[in-house]
Amino acid sequence: MRFSLPAKWEKAETDPRKIEGRTRSPGNELWEECELIPAPFAYHRPQSLQEAIGLLTQPGQHARVVAGGHSLIPMMKLRLAKPEQLIDLQDLSELRGIRSESGAMVIGAMTTQHELIGSELLAASCPIIRETSLVIADPQVRYCGTLGGNLANGDPGNDMPAVMLALGAVYRAQGAQGERDIPARDFYRGIYSTALLDGEILTAIHIPIPAEGHGWAYEKQKRKVGDYATAAAAVVMTMASGICTQAAIALTNLADTPLLAQHAGEALVGSGVDEAVITEAARRAQGITSPSADVRGPVDFRVHVAGVMVRRAIARAKQRAR
Ligand SMILES: Cc1cc2nc3c(=O)[nH]c(=O)nc-3n(C[C@H](O)[C@H](O)[C@H](O)COP(=O)(O)OP(=O)(O)OC[C@H]3O[C@@H](n4cnc5c(N)ncnc54)[C@H](O)[C@@H]3O)c2cc1C
Repeated sequence: MRFSLPAKWEKAETDPRKIEGRTRSPGNELWEECELIPAPFAYHRPQSLQEAIGLLTQPGQHARVVAGGHSLIPMMKLRLAKPEQLIDLQDLSELRGIRSESGAMVIGAMTTQHELIGSELLAASCPIIRETSLVIADPQVRYCGTLGGNLANGDPGNDMPAVMLALGAVYRAQGAQGERDIPARDFYRGIYSTALLDGEILTAIHIPIPAEGHGWAYEKQKRKVGDYATAAAAVVMTMASGICTQAAIALTNLADTPLLAQHAGEALVGSGVDEAVITEAARRAQGITSPSADVRGPVDFRVHVAGVMVRRAIARAKQRAR
């Protein structure tokens, strides 16, 4: 199936004001700069993973997979992404579902954020996933947006990658050469840049089930419901007889990639996680951030909020740990 613009729109592409029957919306910079209509592309709906990989690896074509479309389609409308071949993964039932397997939770890449929230299995074994899913966007987005799309997107504003770093998740990818596993902690390379190779599809996420009675929290500061984080922190920790035996802290939207705050986590281990220790962990976490100033605030403010999020997340995780 091929989608393209009517000829008059193609001609008017550089000047939206020339499009018949459409008006500019004052003050909307994006509208003034671009069409909000994607460049032409061919649409494919493969029925198997092998077929999808075959389409993705056709020589001489810029191909992208689309999952829920809630990051890619807006990028295409802004013409920041211009795939010539769009490969829709919706029909690949083998990429959906949540199961427990050999001490790990295995989540198919096409599992939606809405399905993550509804999973009793996840709520019992890995509750931070539900807590995080609930602060992603709004229900409409979550009905379509997938875990795989959120992780493969490479936008530092996406919430799930930091949680996967804290949980020590491993991503499974498949391409023409076969299957390989990539630890989440090695996956993120830069803004929209990941370890996925051309032609590879993320198929599943393997998450080691945290110890029973572990503490967890995802704390996200956002300007309004549905917004990306000004700063957010994920904490997963285990306490035994009042002493922290294991802790992982990770951060969202505070650098070009999600960040594992390794030294911050280490500050908690072996302690009773009192106020002084929490302060030290927050200080260490702040030390690895490098956010840019944007509509969410200047750099100093975002670093400050990062500290607050880390403090709150540790305190709540400690409260929940048994
Ligand atoms: C209004 C709005 C608010 C939002 N707020 C938030 C928020 O607060 N927090 C947040 O985390 N997200 C937010 N999002 C993004 C949302 O969660 C997206 O759904 C998610 O980032 C991408 O998932 P998707 O399934 O829609 O992927 P798509 O948009 O289909 O794809 C995203 C990218 O990942 C690639 N991709 C997708 N699936 C795979 C796969 N299986 N293998 C390899 N590559 C793949 C695509 O090629 C594309 O490059 C928001 C989106 C909207 C529209």
